[in-house]
Amino acid sequence: MNANRREFIVRSSLAVAAGACGSARLFAQQPAAGAAPPAVPQFASLRRNVGTFTARGGTMGWLVAPDAVVVVDSQFADTSKMFLDGFQPMIAGRRIDLLINSHHHPDHTGGNKTLQPSVVKIVAHENAPGLQRKQAAAQKSEANQAYADTTFKTNWKVDLGSEVVSAKYYGAGHTSGDAVIFFERANVVHMGDLMSHQRHPRVDRPSGASIRNWLVSLERVVKDHNADATYIFGHSKVGSPVTGPRGDLLALRDYFSAMLDYVQKGIAAGKSGEEIVKAGLPQFAANEGAPALQVAYDELTAKG
Ligand SMILES: [Zn+2]
Repeated sequence: MNANRREFIVRSSLAVAAGACGSARLFAQQPAAGAAPPAVPQFASLRRNVGTFTARGGTMGWLVAPDAVVVVDSQFADTSKMFLDGFQPMIAGRRIDLLINSHHHPDHTGGNKTLQPSVVKIVAHENAPGLQRKQAAAQKSEANQAYADTTFKTNWKVDLGSEVVSAKYYGAGHTSGDAVIFFERANVVHMGDLMSHQRHPRVDRPSGASIRNWLVSLERVVKDHNADATYIFGHSKVGSPVTGPRGDLLALRDYFSAMLDYVQKGIAAGKSGEEIVKAGLPQFAANEGAPALQVAYDELTAKG
């Protein structure tokens, strides 16, 4: 099958998805935990064979090129089936060369097992499978897991012919096993949950998260890519776009900066974690969810 033909198939599939939501631009639709409207699967084309998929949980990324198929993250078992239903016609019987997990959380790896029979290789940061195993043991979901078989410490890269895909570890951030995945020719960066747009980010301290290093990592990611790069966000406020430019990353950096400053001042004034949490972060009241102020307090008062 030639490239044009394949391109047509991808575009056709996307046209259906785009028609359903009235726009090729994709907006977050994840319901808050507890509320559970049915997940609506949506594919959107982003740039040069790269696109996104949302249904419920972390935003997935994909590459469908004439010579390679790559998927980033797998959401949950149920929504990964929805993904496969829509994706298989787009790849016309080919296998997924790479499934890359941005990190171990269940809304990013819960569909690994569903996708595994269609996948050649699963890639993640070296800390991610261990964290995933620990999480599965805690949730008694060991039987439903599939783990990365290829891991990396700092940098990983593969030349797929028409596209070069790399993954980089910036140190502790949202967890201690977050990968930033870069589709170099498309100039698209999948941030996993290192990017939370207009939504208070979850900071998984038991999994080794660090707000201070996360803040620095966002600056480093921006410096590592040119101004034209487009970023895929792990999560966004409902109704907000799940992709955007570097300015959105810098807004999250500023958010963390304001948060740490506020909590540090509270600590200096002798306030307890409880008092700091109660006062909240009013300047970010429009964000979805609740700020991780107790986590910030714990990080800033931790010994050693
Ligand atoms: Zn996460």
